[in-house]
Formats: sequence, C-alpha cells, structure tokens
Amino acid sequence: MRAKDLLLVTLREPPAEAEIPSHQWLVRGGFIRRVASGIYAYMPLMWRVLRKVEAIVREEMEATGALELRLPALQPAELWRRSDRWDTYTAGEGIMFNLTDRQGRELGLGPTHEEVVTSLAADLIRSYRQLPVSFYQLQTKFRDEIRPRFGLMRGREFIMKDAYSFHADEEDLRRYYGCMDQAYRRIFARCGLKVLAVQADSGAIGGAASQEFMAVADAGEDLVLSSGDGRYAANQERARSLPPPSAPLSVTADERFATPGQAGIDAVCAAHNLDPTQTVKVLLHRACFADGPDQPVLTVLRGDQEVNTVKLTNLLGRVLAERGVVLALERLDVDTLQAHGVELPVGFLGPDLPDDVMQGAPGLVGGFLRIVDPTAADLAGFVCGANVPDQHRRVPGWSAIGLSFTKADVRSAQPGDRCCHDPRTVLTATRGIEVGHIFQLGCKYSSALQACFSTESGSTEPIRMGCYGIGVSRLAQAVVEQNHDGNGMIWPVSIAPFEVVVTVANGEEQEQCRLGEKLYGELRAAGVDVLLDDRVERAGVKFKDADLLGIPWRVVVGRNAARGQVELKMRSARDVLDLDASRLLRHLLPRLQRQRRGSLPEVAV
Ligand code: ATP
Ligand code: MG
Repeated sequence: MRAKDLLLVTLREPPAEAEIPSHQWLVRGGFIRRVASGIYAYMPLMWRVLRKVEAIVREEMEATGALELRLPALQPAELWRRSDRWDTYTAGEGIMFNLTDRQGRELGLGPTHEEVVTSLAADLIRSYRQLPVSFYQLQTKFRDEIRPRFGLMRGREFIMKDAYSFHADEEDLRRYYGCMDQAYRRIFARCGLKVLAVQADSGAIGGAASQEFMAVADAGEDLVLSSGDGRYAANQERARSLPPPSAPLSVTADERFATPGQAGIDAVCAAHNLDPTQTVKVLLHRACFADGPDQPVLTVLRGDQEVNTVKLTNLLGRVLAERGVVLALERLDVDTLQAHGVELPVGFLGPDLPDDVMQGAPGLVGGFLRIVDPTAADLAGFVCGANVPDQHRRVPGWSAIGLSFTKADVRSAQPGDRCCHDPRTVLTATRGIEVGHIFQLGCKYSSALQACFSTESGSTEPIRMGCYGIGVSRLAQAVVEQNHDGNGMIWPVSIAPFEVVVTVANGEEQEQCRLGEKLYGELRAAGVDVLLDDRVERAGVKFKDADLLGIPWRVVVGRNAARGQVELKMRSARDVLDLDASRLLRHLLPRLQRQRRGSLPEVAV
C-alpha cells in the first residue's frame, strides 16, 4: 500500500471528547472517526488492525474445536421473555435497543446471544452423542450504554467475539472452560496485551463460575484487587477480604446521647472520640421490579465500610426471587420522600428504623427488608443513630435491637484489606480494562429454553452451557492504551496495520524514490505488510506521521540512498541502524517472523 492512496488525514490536536491517550491517538492517526455518541467508523487503518485481531481470535477458537457461525443481530422479544431477560435488558438497565416492527412484533438488537444460540441448540441437539459442541462468532453487538465513552472502549455498537459451548455434564463444561481460559491467554499474548485473569461477578448473564481478563491500564474502568503472592485476584465488584479489626468498645447500658448537628459517622466520631469501627451505619435503597411496587431495603454496615451494590443487588435477586427480577437498585431519594410527607432522620438512622416511617412513600410497599453485613453483625457493642434528629445511641449488642436481619457479605473489599486465604498478605489495587469474560453458565438458559438431551442411560437432562466473550474493538484500543508514547501509537507487529513503513525522505530525489520502490517491491514479495510513504511532503512531516501511526519498523531511504544505504529503526526503540539496502531483508525477516507471534521480548536492532 502507498501512503498516497490511503487518504491519510492526521490531526495535530486531539478532539475535545477524547479523554484517554488511546482514544486521542486513534482519532489523531485517522484510525477511527466518531459518527455519533458511542458509534464509530473503523477507517482503513483500524480495519486492518481489527482484521488481524480477528484472525488471531479465529485461529485460537478453531484450535479449541469451536465452529464459526453468524447469528442474527435482530432478535425476537419472545426468546428473551423465555429466559426472563427482556424486562431487565429493556426496562431495567435499558441496555438493549429495542423496536416494534410493522406487524407490531417486538424485537431487540442483540447485546449478547445466549437466547438465540440456546434456542438453536434446543432444536438441533437430541442425544449425548452430539455433545460436546461449541460455536463462536465475530459480530457487531449493540448496547445502549448509559455512559458511552473512551472511543471504542465503551461503544454503543462494537465488535465482540462470543462463543457458546454445550456439554453433557459439569465436568466436561469445566474441561472446556479450562481450554477457553488457555485460548484467551494465548489470544491476548499474541496481540501483545498484558492481562490479569481475575474472579468476576456474573452479572445479568448469570451462572456459576466466571473469570474476567483485565488489560492493566490506569484508564481502566474496573478496579482489580489482588494479593502479592499471586494466589488471589478479583474484580472489586466481587472481591472478598478480611475487614480491618474493630477497636473494642464496651457498652454497659443501652442509652441515647445528644449529637446536635452531628449527622453522619465522621461528625459523631470526631465529637465523641469514637473510632468509625465502633459505629454502624444504615443505608436505605429501593429494589425495583418489572411488575408491582418497589421493596424498601435497609442495609447495615460497620461505620468504616462501604456497600458493594453489585453484591447487594445479587443478594436481593436471591432473597426476593419470588417477586421477579430486580430491575434496579436505587438509593432512596430523601427529597422526594419528604415531598410526600415522609420525614427520615437522615444522619441519625439506626438499624431498628421502624417500618411505619415509610408510610405514604410513593411506589413502595411493606416493611424494610433488613440486611446486615458481618462487619456490623459481629460487633458486640456499637454506636448508631437513634432514629431521631440530633441523637445517637450506645447499643450493648444486637439483642437490644431485637429485629431479624439477613446476614450477608455486602461490603466492598478495599485495597489494604487482609486476604481471606492468608491474613498476612494484603490486597493491592490495579486498574483494568475488561477485554474478555468467560462463564460457566450451567443450566440457566438450557432450562429456560428447554434445550435438553437424552443421556446414555436414556434419561432427559438440560444441556450444560458455557459462554465466552472478547471485546474485539475494545481489545484493539486497549493495546494502544498499553503501548504509546508522547509521539503516538506503538503497535505490536502481530496486529499492526502495517509491519514496516518505507519512508522516502525526499520524494523529489530520483535515487531515493528508486531505492524506496525497490525495497517496497522486495518486502512485498517476501510477504511483508509494508507501507510506502512516497508522498510529496517534508521529511519531518512523514517522520511525525510514521511515529503517530505507530508502525513497528521504519526504513528511511534518505541522503545515503545514492550509496545504497538506508536507516532501520524500531518504533519502540531509540537506536537507528545504518545498513546496506541489500542486507535489509536478511536482517529484518527473521525478526519480523518472531514478532508476528506476539508477546516476545523486544529484539534490539
Ligand atoms: P462492562 O462491564 O465493561 O460493561 P460487560 O461485562 O457488560 O462489560 P460482557 O457482557 O462480559 O461485557 O461482554 C463481553 C466483552 O465485550 C467484555 O469483556 C468487553 O471486552 C466487551 N464489551 C462489553 N461492552 C462493551 C462496549 N460497550 N464497548 C466495547 N466493548 C464492550
Ligand atoms: Mg463482563
């Protein structure tokens, strides 16, 4: 390819909306163009990168025995109703774009494909002899994200590789899940991405075990907590830890005391010489359902702890299962309640806040569902709000509260907490970009969509399922987030838009043009993905663009062309090697060969 033919439009300044380096560089280099919020055009350079990523993904998927197919993006609501996800995905998080066709039938644009693929399996699979089987696809997914941002990192239309496997038993599912884990590690290594495999929350997809692959980067939206000994790593959404010990507090009598204007833990602790670990705090939420009124929820944690809303939502889903799917969990809005005459002593709440305080609250029904985290439940004596403004209470123990609570871990593990597997090690925090997620789904979808098979002994059982996703477009941008400098992108050879750029320093010099053409031809003949920068531009402009585009190898045909000499430089290194043009291929090809496999140590020029 010749740079002249590329319609190369590079920008001097990053666009205002690009907050992180990879987004800025991709736009400045002309790789992507924004069409609307969260919707991007992949321009020819980006498309070359994506096709290379896809080729790696295909090879590794095929190696696990998975079969490629292509499922429809338009999916009937009826399928999603059968798995009970239509409401969660439309009315709840509202992540699924949905529409009604001219016949009045509801459809969704696929954010994921469990329903479609499981219904196909239900049609096709009859016997244990047909198992195991696994399908994958590389497809555009649609999600109406609440906050699309960071370019391809969180798009509303993006490319995903998703795979679904079907098994006769849990053991075979676990075996294949292990294969996929290995395939994922190879994919990321081959793309030149540094990832951490971490325990993950299974979210609205559901199922048992799941693991995320996090590209380590400061711009990552996820927080990973891991132990220094390498034995534990989890997304904070799911992480468990041992909380810091509480400072002992001996409370002999159940008594109230005045705390004028001291709303909240910090104010009370400061005024009464208490440690936050000697207090408990009370949070109020509403759990929203598709049908019927919301459920008020009262959660108690030790004063120094934070609630983990993912854990809390999962717990409510289990405890309130008979009410249907929990669409959302919202903090109770005190101002709205007040407008309806419900006065809450905010800042002075206690675990025994009476149910009748909520009388008249719109859209809420019944008494509180009361939840206590072990950090609070395990305290012998503590201080809490007295449920009246400007008063707190010393409580000698939970029997003095006298109500029943559901005890469950709903706290957010924090960096610095001690690890459950070894209290001598502590958790440290790393930011990560979720580039892949693998799940053991079990029978969740096969039961809902009646995907069953007959076993060897003749009984009928639901098929065990796994599902496996990679954000292909997100992954490509994550590689830039990990590999750039002040001048632009630094692509690894394995997925670079071009492996080599031949820069003719002065496009008006015949010698230079001739040698440039010759090397371009030789490199192409040797199967190298090469770009010839033969534009009539100043050398400085071409060098700047070459750095910006991040092509891993640069051959400069300049002043010494007449003597048959060129310069060779790696984008990631400083050194420049002067060498005879006749030696270029012999020098470059073995190095390229190694680098195409990805994740190898950088080879010095
Ligand atoms: P996130 O937590 O980042 O919203 P998710 O857990 O909802 O992602 P999955 O349903 O596990 O995502 O999808 C599989 C993969 O698709 C993710 O691991 C991620 O790499 C990618 N992905 C998900 N949402 C987006 C998006 N909006 N834009 C680009 N890639 C995405
Ligand atoms: Mg995920």
